Amino acid sequence: MDLFEYQARDLFAKHDVPVLAGEVIDTPAAAREVAERLGGKAVVKAQVKVGGRGKAGGVKLASDPDDAVAKAEQILGMDIKGHTVHKVMLAETAPEIAAEYYVSYLLDRANRTFLAMASVEGGMDIEEVAATKPEALAKIPVDANEGVTPEKAREIVEAAKFPADVADQIADILVTLWKTFVAEDALLVEVNPLAKVADGRVLALDGKVSLDANAEFRQPEHEALEDKDAADPLEAAAKAKGLNYVKLDGEVGIIGNGAGLVMSTLDVVAYAGEKHGEVKPANFLDIGGGASAEVMANGLEIILGDPAVKSVFVNVFGGITACDAVANGIVQALELLHSRGEDVTKPLVVRLDGNNAEEGRRILTEANHPLIQQVDTMDGAAERAAELAAAK
Ligand code: GDP
Ligand code: MN
Repeated sequence: MDLFEYQARDLFAKHDVPVLAGEVIDTPAAAREVAERLGGKAVVKAQVKVGGRGKAGGVKLASDPDDAVAKAEQILGMDIKGHTVHKVMLAETAPEIAAEYYVSYLLDRANRTFLAMASVEGGMDIEEVAATKPEALAKIPVDANEGVTPEKAREIVEAAKFPADVADQIADILVTLWKTFVAEDALLVEVNPLAKVADGRVLALDGKVSLDANAEFRQPEHEALEDKDAADPLEAAAKAKGLNYVKLDGEVGIIGNGAGLVMSTLDVVAYAGEKHGEVKPANFLDIGGGASAEVMANGLEIILGDPAVKSVFVNVFGGITACDAVANGIVQALELLHSRGEDVTKPLVVRLDGNNAEEGRRILTEANHPLIQQVDTMDGAAERAAELAAAK
Protein backbone atom coordinates (compact mmCIF):
# COMPACT_ATOMS: atom_id res chain seq x y z
CA MET A 1 0.00 0.00 0.00
CA ASP A 2 1.43 3.35 -1.09
CA LEU A 3 0.95 6.24 1.32
CA PHE A 4 0.29 9.91 0.73
CA GLU A 5 3.14 12.30 1.51
CA TYR A 6 1.42 13.59 4.66
CA GLN A 7 1.11 10.02 5.98
CA ALA A 8 4.78 9.38 5.23
CA ARG A 9 5.60 12.63 7.03
CA ASP A 10 3.67 11.45 10.10
CA LEU A 11 5.52 8.11 10.15
CA PHE A 12 8.88 9.88 9.79
CA ALA A 13 8.00 12.18 12.71
CA LYS A 14 6.97 9.16 14.80
CA HIS A 15 10.41 7.59 14.30
CA ASP A 16 12.44 10.81 14.74
CA VAL A 17 13.33 11.48 11.12
CA PRO A 18 13.48 15.33 11.05
CA VAL A 19 10.50 16.83 9.20
CA LEU A 20 8.71 20.18 9.18
CA ALA A 21 5.29 20.70 10.78
CA GLY A 22 2.44 19.97 8.41
CA GLU A 23 -1.33 19.43 8.34
CA VAL A 24 -3.62 18.04 5.68
CA ILE A 25 -6.87 19.74 4.60
CA ASP A 26 -9.49 19.22 1.89
CA THR A 27 -11.09 22.66 1.47
CA PRO A 28 -9.47 26.01 0.57
CA ALA A 29 -11.14 27.74 3.54
CA ALA A 30 -9.42 25.41 5.99
CA ALA A 31 -6.04 26.67 4.75
CA ARG A 32 -6.31 30.00 6.61
CA GLU A 33 -6.31 28.64 10.15
CA VAL A 34 -3.58 26.09 9.39
CA ALA A 35 -1.36 28.73 7.77
CA GLU A 36 -1.82 30.95 10.83
CA ARG A 37 -0.79 28.05 13.06
CA LEU A 38 2.29 27.47 10.92
CA GLY A 39 3.37 31.12 11.30
CA GLY A 40 1.68 32.75 8.29
CA LYS A 41 3.80 31.48 5.43
CA ALA A 42 3.30 27.91 4.21
CA VAL A 43 4.13 25.49 1.41
CA VAL A 44 0.93 24.16 -0.14
CA LYS A 45 1.42 20.65 -1.55
CA ALA A 46 -0.94 18.48 -3.60
CA GLN A 47 -1.50 15.05 -2.00
CA VAL A 48 -1.56 12.55 -4.85
CA LYS A 49 0.17 9.18 -5.05
CA VAL A 50 2.34 10.11 -8.00
CA GLY A 51 5.71 11.84 -8.32
CA GLY A 52 6.53 15.08 -10.13
CA ARG A 53 4.01 17.22 -8.28
CA GLY A 54 6.48 20.10 -8.14
CA LYS A 55 6.88 20.23 -11.92
CA ALA A 56 3.13 19.90 -12.46
CA GLY A 57 2.42 23.01 -10.34
CA GLY A 58 1.24 21.02 -7.34
CA VAL A 59 3.72 22.58 -4.88
CA LYS A 60 3.32 26.31 -4.23
CA LEU A 61 4.68 28.77 -1.70
CA ALA A 62 2.06 30.90 0.10
CA SER A 63 3.22 34.20 1.60
CA ASP A 64 0.40 34.65 4.14
CA PRO A 65 -2.89 33.00 5.24
CA ASP A 66 -4.92 34.71 2.46
CA ASP A 67 -2.43 33.51 -0.10
CA ALA A 68 -2.59 30.00 1.42
CA VAL A 69 -6.34 29.94 0.76
CA ALA A 70 -5.75 31.10 -2.82
CA LYS A 71 -3.02 28.52 -3.45
CA ALA A 72 -5.10 25.72 -1.89
CA GLU A 73 -7.96 26.77 -4.17
CA GLN A 74 -5.67 26.51 -7.22
CA ILE A 75 -4.28 23.10 -6.28
CA LEU A 76 -7.42 21.33 -4.98
CA GLY A 77 -9.19 19.74 -7.94
CA MET A 78 -6.08 19.92 -10.11
CA ASP A 79 -5.32 16.86 -12.26
CA ILE A 80 -1.76 15.56 -11.88
CA LYS A 81 -0.97 12.71 -14.28
CA GLY A 82 -4.55 11.44 -14.09
CA HIS A 83 -4.84 11.83 -10.29
CA THR A 84 -7.35 14.39 -9.02
CA VAL A 85 -6.15 16.34 -6.00
CA HIS A 86 -8.63 15.90 -3.12
CA LYS A 87 -6.30 16.94 -0.30
CA VAL A 88 -3.45 19.36 0.18
CA MET A 89 -0.83 19.43 2.88
CA LEU A 90 0.19 22.77 4.32
CA ALA A 91 3.72 22.59 5.61
CA GLU A 92 5.90 24.97 7.53
CA THR A 93 8.21 26.66 5.00
CA ALA A 94 11.77 25.48 5.06
CA PRO A 95 14.46 28.12 5.52
CA GLU A 96 16.13 28.69 2.15
CA ILE A 97 17.20 25.37 0.62
CA ALA A 98 20.97 25.13 0.08
CA ALA A 99 21.15 21.60 -1.34
CA GLU A 100 18.79 18.75 -2.22
CA TYR A 101 19.82 15.13 -1.63
CA TYR A 102 18.16 11.73 -2.11
CA VAL A 103 18.02 8.68 0.18
CA SER A 104 15.88 5.53 0.13
CA TYR A 105 15.62 1.95 1.36
CA LEU A 106 13.82 -0.72 -0.56
CA LEU A 107 13.37 -4.45 -0.84
CA ASP A 108 15.65 -5.67 -3.62
CA ARG A 109 13.84 -8.87 -4.66
CA ALA A 110 16.25 -9.77 -7.47
CA ASN A 111 19.20 -9.86 -5.07
CA ARG A 112 17.22 -11.20 -2.09
CA THR A 113 18.30 -8.38 0.15
CA PHE A 114 17.51 -4.79 1.11
CA LEU A 115 19.10 -1.91 -0.70
CA ALA A 116 20.07 1.61 0.34
CA MET A 117 20.23 4.22 -2.39
CA ALA A 118 21.66 7.70 -1.89
CA SER A 119 22.70 10.65 -4.00
CA VAL A 120 23.89 14.22 -3.59
CA GLU A 121 21.85 15.01 -6.70
CA GLY A 122 18.37 14.87 -5.17
CA GLY A 123 15.42 17.10 -5.93
CA MET A 124 12.95 16.52 -8.66
CA ASP A 125 14.60 14.13 -11.12
CA ILE A 126 16.18 11.12 -9.44
CA GLU A 127 14.95 8.78 -12.22
CA GLU A 128 16.88 10.91 -14.71
CA VAL A 129 19.99 10.86 -12.52
CA ALA A 130 19.73 7.06 -12.32
CA ALA A 131 19.40 6.80 -16.11
CA THR A 132 21.98 9.33 -17.27
CA LYS A 133 24.50 9.47 -14.39
CA PRO A 134 24.29 6.10 -12.61
CA GLU A 135 27.61 6.80 -10.85
CA ALA A 136 25.87 9.64 -8.97
CA LEU A 137 23.44 7.21 -7.32
CA ALA A 138 25.14 5.01 -4.71
CA LYS A 139 23.57 1.57 -4.16
CA ILE A 140 24.56 -0.34 -1.04
CA PRO A 141 23.05 -3.69 0.00
CA VAL A 142 21.75 -3.83 3.58
CA ASP A 143 21.81 -7.17 5.36
CA ALA A 144 18.38 -8.00 6.80
CA ASN A 145 19.83 -9.25 10.10
CA GLU A 146 22.40 -6.50 10.63
CA GLY A 147 20.31 -3.58 9.38
CA VAL A 148 21.63 -0.02 9.26
CA THR A 149 23.98 0.47 12.20
CA PRO A 150 25.87 3.78 12.65
CA GLU A 151 28.81 2.09 10.85
CA LYS A 152 26.62 1.04 7.92
CA ALA A 153 25.17 4.57 7.78
CA ARG A 154 28.74 5.90 7.52
CA GLU A 155 29.41 3.53 4.64
CA ILE A 156 26.34 4.83 2.78
CA VAL A 157 27.33 8.46 3.46
CA GLU A 158 30.80 7.82 2.07
CA ALA A 159 29.59 5.89 -0.98
CA ALA A 160 27.24 8.74 -1.92
CA LYS A 161 29.96 11.37 -1.18
CA PHE A 162 27.80 13.56 1.04
CA PRO A 163 29.72 16.71 2.07
CA ALA A 164 31.51 16.65 5.43
CA ASP A 165 29.33 19.39 6.99
CA VAL A 166 26.16 17.26 6.64
CA ALA A 167 27.71 13.79 7.06
CA ASP A 168 26.85 13.34 10.75
CA GLN A 169 23.27 14.52 10.36
CA ILE A 170 22.67 12.32 7.33
CA ALA A 171 24.20 9.29 9.07
CA ASP A 172 21.76 9.81 11.99
CA ILE A 173 18.86 10.19 9.56
CA LEU A 174 19.86 6.97 7.77
CA VAL A 175 19.62 5.11 11.10
CA THR A 176 16.21 6.57 12.03
CA LEU A 177 14.93 6.03 8.50
CA TRP A 178 15.95 2.35 8.73
CA LYS A 179 14.06 2.11 12.03
CA THR A 180 11.00 3.49 10.24
CA PHE A 181 11.44 0.96 7.43
CA VAL A 182 11.64 -2.01 9.82
CA ALA A 183 9.12 -0.91 12.46
CA GLU A 184 6.43 -0.13 9.88
CA ASP A 185 7.07 -3.21 7.69
CA ALA A 186 7.73 -1.02 4.66
CA LEU A 187 8.79 -2.16 1.20
CA LEU A 188 10.04 1.32 0.35
CA VAL A 189 10.91 4.51 2.21
CA GLU A 190 12.22 7.36 0.11
CA VAL A 191 13.16 10.94 0.97
CA ASN A 192 13.47 13.35 -1.97
CA PRO A 193 14.50 15.99 -1.31
CA LEU A 194 16.44 15.42 1.84
CA ALA A 195 17.31 19.11 2.06
CA LYS A 196 20.13 21.03 3.64
CA VAL A 197 18.59 24.35 4.63
CA ALA A 198 20.12 27.78 5.31
CA ASP A 199 20.51 27.28 9.06
CA GLY A 200 22.52 24.11 8.46
CA ARG A 201 19.84 21.55 9.38
CA VAL A 202 19.08 18.56 7.17
CA LEU A 203 15.33 17.86 6.80
CA ALA A 204 13.10 15.35 5.01
CA LEU A 205 10.98 17.66 2.83
CA ASP A 206 9.17 15.00 0.81
CA GLY A 207 8.62 11.34 1.59
CA LYS A 208 7.30 8.29 -0.18
CA VAL A 209 6.43 5.14 1.78
CA SER A 210 5.02 1.84 0.59
CA LEU A 211 3.85 -0.61 3.25
CA ASP A 212 3.85 -4.41 2.98
CA ALA A 213 0.23 -5.61 2.87
CA ASN A 214 1.40 -9.07 4.00
CA ALA A 215 2.28 -7.56 7.38
CA GLU A 216 -1.24 -6.18 7.95
CA PHE A 217 -1.91 -8.77 10.66
CA ARG A 218 0.74 -7.29 12.95
CA GLN A 219 0.22 -3.65 11.99
CA PRO A 220 -3.30 -2.86 13.23
CA GLU A 221 -2.63 0.89 12.93
CA HIS A 222 -2.06 0.65 9.19
CA GLU A 223 -5.69 0.03 8.36
CA ALA A 224 -6.45 3.68 9.12
CA LEU A 225 -3.94 4.68 6.40
CA GLU A 226 -5.94 3.03 3.62
CA ASP A 227 -7.45 5.39 1.07
CA LYS A 228 -11.00 4.02 1.24
CA ASP A 229 -12.29 6.47 -1.43
CA ALA A 230 -9.83 5.18 -4.03
CA ALA A 231 -10.43 1.46 -3.40
CA ASP A 232 -12.16 -0.46 -6.18
CA PRO A 233 -15.70 -1.17 -4.87
CA LEU A 234 -15.62 -4.82 -6.02
CA GLU A 235 -12.23 -5.36 -4.39
CA ALA A 236 -13.49 -3.75 -1.19
CA ALA A 237 -16.60 -5.99 -1.20
CA ALA A 238 -14.44 -9.07 -1.83
CA LYS A 239 -12.08 -8.11 0.97
CA ALA A 240 -15.01 -7.70 3.36
CA LYS A 241 -16.04 -11.29 2.50
CA GLY A 242 -12.49 -12.55 3.01
CA LEU A 243 -12.01 -13.43 -0.67
CA ASN A 244 -8.69 -13.36 -2.47
CA TYR A 245 -9.84 -11.20 -5.41
CA VAL A 246 -8.11 -8.81 -7.81
CA LYS A 247 -10.06 -6.84 -10.42
CA LEU A 248 -8.62 -6.93 -13.94
CA ASP A 249 -9.90 -5.21 -17.05
CA GLY A 250 -11.28 -8.04 -19.22
CA GLU A 251 -14.65 -9.74 -19.76
CA VAL A 252 -14.25 -13.36 -18.59
CA GLY A 253 -14.86 -13.82 -14.87
CA ILE A 254 -12.52 -16.38 -13.31
CA ILE A 255 -12.99 -18.58 -10.23
CA GLY A 256 -10.57 -21.31 -9.30
CA ASN A 257 -9.18 -23.17 -6.30
CA GLY A 258 -5.53 -22.49 -5.59
CA ALA A 259 -3.51 -19.44 -6.59
CA GLY A 260 -1.33 -21.37 -9.05
CA LEU A 261 -4.31 -22.82 -10.90
CA VAL A 262 -6.00 -19.42 -11.08
CA MET A 263 -2.82 -17.78 -12.42
CA SER A 264 -2.53 -20.33 -15.20
CA THR A 265 -6.26 -19.99 -15.89
CA LEU A 266 -5.69 -16.27 -16.52
CA ASP A 267 -3.01 -17.22 -19.07
CA VAL A 268 -5.09 -19.78 -20.98
CA VAL A 269 -8.11 -17.45 -21.07
CA ALA A 270 -5.99 -14.55 -22.35
CA TYR A 271 -4.53 -16.89 -24.99
CA ALA A 272 -7.94 -18.25 -26.05
CA GLY A 273 -9.31 -14.70 -26.06
CA GLU A 274 -6.89 -13.66 -28.80
CA LYS A 275 -9.02 -15.60 -31.29
CA HIS A 276 -12.27 -14.22 -29.89
CA GLY A 277 -12.19 -10.47 -30.24
CA GLU A 278 -9.32 -10.00 -27.75
CA VAL A 279 -11.43 -10.84 -24.69
CA LYS A 280 -9.42 -11.09 -21.49
CA PRO A 281 -9.80 -12.27 -17.88
CA ALA A 282 -11.95 -9.90 -15.78
CA ASN A 283 -10.45 -10.84 -12.43
CA PHE A 284 -8.34 -13.14 -10.30
CA LEU A 285 -10.32 -15.07 -7.67
CA ASP A 286 -8.91 -17.93 -5.65
CA ILE A 287 -11.58 -19.55 -3.46
CA GLY A 288 -8.96 -21.76 -1.81
CA GLY A 289 -9.23 -25.33 -0.65
CA GLY A 290 -12.59 -25.36 1.17
CA ALA A 291 -14.87 -24.14 -1.63
CA SER A 292 -18.10 -24.47 0.34
CA ALA A 293 -21.39 -23.42 -1.27
CA GLU A 294 -21.23 -20.20 0.68
CA VAL A 295 -17.71 -19.30 -0.48
CA MET A 296 -18.70 -20.22 -4.05
CA ALA A 297 -21.85 -18.05 -3.76
CA ASN A 298 -19.85 -15.11 -2.38
CA GLY A 299 -17.31 -15.46 -5.18
CA LEU A 300 -19.98 -15.72 -7.88
CA GLU A 301 -21.83 -12.75 -6.40
CA ILE A 302 -18.72 -10.54 -6.65
CA ILE A 303 -17.93 -11.67 -10.20
CA LEU A 304 -21.49 -11.49 -11.50
CA GLY A 305 -21.77 -8.04 -9.92
CA ASP A 306 -19.01 -6.80 -12.23
CA PRO A 307 -20.78 -5.19 -15.22
CA ALA A 308 -17.73 -5.90 -17.41
CA VAL A 309 -18.14 -9.68 -16.97
CA LYS A 310 -19.83 -11.44 -19.93
CA SER A 311 -19.11 -15.07 -19.05
CA VAL A 312 -17.62 -16.94 -16.09
CA PHE A 313 -15.07 -19.75 -16.09
CA VAL A 314 -15.13 -21.91 -12.94
CA ASN A 315 -11.95 -23.97 -13.00
CA VAL A 316 -11.61 -26.51 -10.20
CA PHE A 317 -9.09 -29.24 -9.60
CA GLY A 318 -10.46 -31.45 -6.84
CA GLY A 319 -7.99 -32.25 -4.09
CA ILE A 320 -8.84 -32.48 -0.41
CA THR A 321 -12.14 -30.89 -1.35
CA ALA A 322 -13.46 -33.33 -3.92
CA CYS A 323 -15.26 -32.34 -7.13
CA ASP A 324 -18.64 -33.65 -5.97
CA ALA A 325 -18.56 -31.22 -3.05
CA VAL A 326 -17.60 -28.38 -5.40
CA ALA A 327 -20.36 -29.34 -7.87
CA ASN A 328 -22.92 -29.28 -5.07
CA GLY A 329 -21.42 -25.95 -4.02
CA ILE A 330 -21.97 -24.47 -7.48
CA VAL A 331 -25.57 -25.67 -7.68
CA GLN A 332 -26.35 -24.43 -4.18
CA ALA A 333 -24.55 -21.16 -4.86
CA LEU A 334 -26.82 -20.42 -7.81
CA GLU A 335 -29.88 -21.24 -5.67
CA LEU A 336 -28.49 -19.03 -2.89
CA LEU A 337 -27.99 -16.12 -5.29
CA HIS A 338 -31.49 -16.63 -6.68
CA SER A 339 -32.91 -16.51 -3.15
CA ARG A 340 -30.91 -13.34 -2.44
CA GLY A 341 -32.79 -11.79 -5.36
CA GLU A 342 -29.75 -11.66 -7.67
CA ASP A 343 -30.61 -11.76 -11.36
CA VAL A 344 -28.16 -14.35 -12.65
CA THR A 345 -28.04 -14.36 -16.45
CA LYS A 346 -24.39 -14.81 -17.39
CA PRO A 347 -23.23 -18.22 -18.66
CA LEU A 348 -20.95 -20.34 -16.46
CA VAL A 349 -18.41 -22.67 -18.03
CA VAL A 350 -17.37 -25.28 -15.47
CA ARG A 351 -14.36 -27.56 -15.71
CA LEU A 352 -14.00 -30.17 -12.98
CA ASP A 353 -11.02 -32.46 -12.77
CA GLY A 354 -9.14 -34.38 -10.09
CA ASN A 355 -10.59 -36.07 -7.02
CA ASN A 356 -14.12 -37.42 -7.73
CA ALA A 357 -14.42 -35.57 -11.04
CA GLU A 358 -16.82 -38.17 -12.48
CA GLU A 359 -19.26 -37.75 -9.61
CA GLY A 360 -18.97 -33.95 -9.75
CA ARG A 361 -19.75 -33.89 -13.46
CA ARG A 362 -22.75 -36.21 -12.92
CA ILE A 363 -24.14 -33.84 -10.26
CA LEU A 364 -23.91 -30.87 -12.62
CA THR A 365 -25.41 -32.83 -15.51
CA GLU A 366 -28.34 -33.90 -13.35
CA ALA A 367 -28.88 -30.40 -12.03
CA ASN A 368 -29.39 -29.41 -15.68
CA HIS A 369 -29.05 -25.70 -14.90
CA PRO A 370 -29.64 -23.57 -18.03
CA LEU A 371 -26.62 -21.33 -17.35
CA ILE A 372 -24.07 -24.08 -16.65
CA GLN A 373 -22.02 -25.61 -19.44
CA GLN A 374 -19.44 -28.29 -18.70
CA VAL A 375 -16.20 -28.73 -20.58
CA ASP A 376 -13.79 -31.41 -19.41
CA THR A 377 -10.45 -29.82 -20.33
CA MET A 378 -8.97 -26.54 -19.14
CA ASP A 379 -8.05 -25.35 -22.66
CA GLY A 380 -11.46 -26.32 -24.03
CA ALA A 381 -13.28 -24.56 -21.20
CA ALA A 382 -11.16 -21.41 -21.63
CA GLU A 383 -11.97 -21.44 -25.33
CA ARG A 384 -15.71 -21.81 -24.65
CA ALA A 385 -15.75 -19.06 -22.00
CA ALA A 386 -13.89 -16.67 -24.31
CA GLU A 387 -16.27 -17.49 -27.16
CA LEU A 388 -19.32 -16.84 -24.96
CA ALA A 389 -17.87 -13.53 -23.73
CA ALA A 390 -17.12 -12.42 -27.28
CA ALA A 391 -20.67 -13.33 -28.44
CA LYS A 392 -22.31 -11.05 -25.86
P1 GDP B 1 7.54 16.12 -5.96
O1 GDP B 1 7.84 17.01 -7.13
O2 GDP B 1 6.21 15.41 -6.14
O3 GDP B 1 8.63 15.16 -5.64
O4 GDP B 1 7.34 17.09 -4.69
P2 GDP B 1 8.36 17.64 -3.60
O5 GDP B 1 7.68 17.65 -2.29
O6 GDP B 1 9.68 16.93 -3.66
O7 GDP B 1 8.55 19.15 -4.01
C1 GDP B 1 9.22 19.54 -5.18
C2 GDP B 1 10.21 20.66 -4.87
O8 GDP B 1 9.56 21.72 -4.16
C3 GDP B 1 11.34 20.23 -3.94
O9 GDP B 1 12.40 19.62 -4.63
C4 GDP B 1 11.74 21.54 -3.32
O10 GDP B 1 12.66 22.22 -4.17
C5 GDP B 1 10.45 22.33 -3.28
N1 GDP B 1 9.93 22.31 -1.90
C6 GDP B 1 9.28 21.29 -1.27
N2 GDP B 1 9.01 21.62 0.01
C7 GDP B 1 9.51 22.88 0.19
C8 GDP B 1 9.56 23.80 1.29
O11 GDP B 1 9.10 23.52 2.40
N3 GDP B 1 10.13 25.02 1.06
C9 GDP B 1 10.65 25.37 -0.13
N4 GDP B 1 11.16 26.58 -0.29
N5 GDP B 1 10.62 24.54 -1.18
C10 GDP B 1 10.07 23.32 -1.03
MN1 MN C 1 9.97 14.89 -4.16
